[in-house]
Amino acid sequence: MQRSDRVIVIGAGPVGLCLSLALAQEGVRVSLIEQLGEHNFLDQIPRAGTNHPATLEMFERIGLYRRIEPRGIIAPIFHYWDRENDELVAAFDHGHLKDDTRFPYVLQCERIKIVEEALAMAKAHPDIDLRLATTFTSFAQTADGVTAHVTDAAGESEAIEGRYLVSGEGARSIVRKDLDIEFEGFTYPDRTLNIEVAYDFRQHGYAERNYISDPTEWSNLFHWKGPPDRWRVHFPTEPADDPDALQRPEALQARLQRFRPKSGDYEICGSNLYTVHQRVARKFRVGRAILAGDSAHVNSPIGAMGMNSGVHDAFNLADKLIRILRREAEEGELDRYERQRRHVAVKHTQAQTIRNKRLLAERDSAVRRRNHDELRRTAEDPKLARAFLLRSSLIESLREAEQIQ
Ligand SMILES: Cc1cc2nc3c(=O)[nH]c(=O)nc-3n(C[C@H](O)[C@H](O)[C@H](O)COP(=O)(O)OP(=O)(O)OC[C@H]3O[C@@H](n4cnc5c(N)ncnc54)[C@H](O)[C@@H]3O)c2cc1C
Repeated sequence: MQRSDRVIVIGAGPVGLCLSLALAQEGVRVSLIEQLGEHNFLDQIPRAGTNHPATLEMFERIGLYRRIEPRGIIAPIFHYWDRENDELVAAFDHGHLKDDTRFPYVLQCERIKIVEEALAMAKAHPDIDLRLATTFTSFAQTADGVTAHVTDAAGESEAIEGRYLVSGEGARSIVRKDLDIEFEGFTYPDRTLNIEVAYDFRQHGYAERNYISDPTEWSNLFHWKGPPDRWRVHFPTEPADDPDALQRPEALQARLQRFRPKSGDYEICGSNLYTVHQRVARKFRVGRAILAGDSAHVNSPIGAMGMNSGVHDAFNLADKLIRILRREAEEGELDRYERQRRHVAVKHTQAQTIRNKRLLAERDSAVRRRNHDELRRTAEDPKLARAFLLRSSLIESLREAEQIQ
């Protein structure tokens, strides 16, 4: 490998960090550019947190799993609930995947803990030139290489040279926009309200991870390790709702009390509102510039597929870049990356997350009954349950992508 075979990675989110570590551990030099600095890196709003088995295998490969496992909650079982009838519909046990993965469970561990641990690993790696508090502004490419233009906290500009540029910048990717790549799909008109609360919902029979259907107010409920332990509850809102009114303390209390009445107030640790997009970039690569993670695809968090599938992009891409830079593969391998990962984004993550939301929000009582009966039957039959879990945990998507040449 030549010294100039540097890969420039924009964004130290889960995708940019995993990619940088996977590359550097195989001897590829990386420049990792992140706009956040030491002082505000951990001040990011709560986002992803459910890590599927295949993702845990990838974290293990780069030595990240052992750092995050103690900070998370191992959750082999997840639930579907019917809120209207306050009834547990189905309990899915990842134990059915014991012959498919070394990790027959999800790890409930928030994105912020993952990036904190991965950032510490990146800082310690001699082949990662980590630039915090440095903003990527534009890039140019030729047949031989790329130049990324960045500005540091002091306002100093610099041009960084490399062989490839990967956008792990998240949904607002400058690279995607500069390349004029269409972000195809749609945005839901309503926003989702997230409330973080210190209260143990297991006393009501919930698992660590719950999807709760309701014709008027569906919900998700997830447990995170503290101290203090917190639960994240998601609720739908109406497009016309005033964001400030939705997040007033009394409004949050009222929502939670309607969800699970209890004596006294809930201890609320935080709240935020987010907009949900279902979009996939028309192309994942133009020449030496490549998109990965949210920069290439975004979806609803119902089903926990955004960060997971982004991390899968990172490892798929790392393996190809390593082989290309070692002159063991042609650059055409990058087109295979696009074929494989775009297929997963469209046929798996988009399709499943759209279906998941429809399932939770279904209003027709006959359809709801049919859906619930099917979920019940699936969870109770080991063969059907395994097939369902292979899909929901994205293992099937990885196996299918492997077949794409
Ligand atoms: C409420 C919520 C819950 C979610 N839950 C889940 C879940 O349970 N499981 C799951 O799989 N997914 C979930 N997701 C989705 C998940 O958070 C994202 O898919 C994931 O964070 C994408 O990772 P990324 O590295 O591609 O981008 P990001 O996490 O967005 O990281 C991008 C990084 O790039 C940096 N950056 C951006 N622009 C620049 C620039 N110009 N210069 C330098 N740096 C830049 C940013 O500061 C950031 O650090 C959830 C999302 C939301 C909103």
